[in-house]
Amino acid sequence: MNKTGSPMLLLQKVSQKYQAENGEVTALENISFQVDEGEFISLVGPSGCGKSTLLSIIAGLLPPTHGEVFIEGEPVRGVSPKIGYMLQRDQLLEWRTIYRNVLFGLELRHQLTEENIQYTNRLLETYGLWEFKDKYPSQLSGGMRQRAALIRTLAVRPQLLLLDEAFSALDYQTRLAVTDDVYRILKQERKTAVMVTHDIPESISMSDRIVVLAARPGRIKEIHPITFRLDERTPFLCREQPEFSQYFNTIWKELDVHV
Ligand code: ADP
Ligand code: MG
Repeated sequence: MNKTGSPMLLLQKVSQKYQAENGEVTALENISFQVDEGEFISLVGPSGCGKSTLLSIIAGLLPPTHGEVFIEGEPVRGVSPKIGYMLQRDQLLEWRTIYRNVLFGLELRHQLTEENIQYTNRLLETYGLWEFKDKYPSQLSGGMRQRAALIRTLAVRPQLLLLDEAFSALDYQTRLAVTDDVYRILKQERKTAVMVTHDIPESISMSDRIVVLAARPGRIKEIHPITFRLDERTPFLCREQPEFSQYFNTIWKELDVHV
């Protein structure tokens, strides 16, 4: 709950059907859950179970066939300015400097106010990108590029962040470092996040709850609260905890992946 008394995100009986060449496809069926302010939620499930569809619905890019989505109690109708979206590719514009990239979202929204520029400058300084602001994306490492993409997303001050396989293009070592980095920044900036990933360890290391989806039609199989006996949680520390492998085994079995 937040100051409005409503959860940050509420999904009520969301269903999505697509018209395909060979008939109707039910991509999602009867999805209901809520996300409170500051929570980090992961959606995991087999390919094609509707994870990206669900994020598009939450973002207001796709109206659901049935059901309703609320952000802070308000029904979502069209693209919501309260939402920031991060995709697998960082989508930095190669011909723009890092500074002009991180200001791009504000520019598009005609919100290049002094206050917003100051806020973006503070993000660049706090998260170690200020000295790289005049470089071009190709001059940065994969991890730094993701951080720049995150700052660009945060610059427009979204309340809810949606991450769709945001780290899957990175190599394993970079990915570990970037997830730690992103987690720390999101917690520090007090953001709420819904992340889609097919990487179970990644979801356990970052999430307060994991929503496991089943395919055809995409539906909720189980919701797991993830807790660790740590004073201060980081994805890296979580991976070293004894509970970690128990969570992994439970969720792995539920996904029922046949190889
Ligand atoms: P995921 O992200 O979990 O892999 P998607 O949300 O991309 O799943 O897709 C869920 C299902 O809906 C799949 O069966 C996919 O083929 C189908 N689908 C997705 N987008 C469309 C579309 N625009 N038209 C028709 N079918 C679609
Ligand atoms: Mg997807």
